[in-house]
Amino acid sequence: MNQEEIRSLLKDYKLRATSTRMAVLNVLIHVKRPLSHSEMVQELKDTCSDQATIYRTLIKFVDVGLIRVASNVNGMARYEVLNEENDPQHIHPHFVCKECGIVSCLPKIKIISAVDEQWREILRAAELQFLGLCPTCI
Ligand SMILES: [Zn+2]
Ligand SMILES: [Zn+2]
Repeated sequence: MNQEEIRSLLKDYKLRATSTRMAVLNVLIHVKRPLSHSEMVQELKDTCSDQATIYRTLIKFVDVGLIRVASNVNGMARYEVLNEENDPQHIHPHFVCKECGIVSCLPKIKIISAVDEQWREILRAAELQFLGLCPTCI
């Protein structure tokens, strides 16, 4: 996704394309794994964005439904871009490394379609996580 596409994605969510918003969204789209606020600050350390602005940007993105909290391991929220999440039949689990704490997205899995409507909603909002050692820490 290029700068122009990121700009128009922000526009879809009625957000002005400020430099911080562009930078945060760009990182989230390209890194392809959930990032915490401090990881995001690290990623953007060469830009002029300050921590508080990055934080407010993440909160704003969650508010409008552009990103979501993918994981809350150890009370630390990690954010990822929402895509094709509207399909209630599929959710993607996350792998959390017990050692370094990195969170990775795993391929989507089909959740049991036999569950009734009420549970489907609950499952969609639920966090499905695998806990173990990542390839770097094993
Ligand atoms: Zn690890
Ligand atoms: Zn994910």
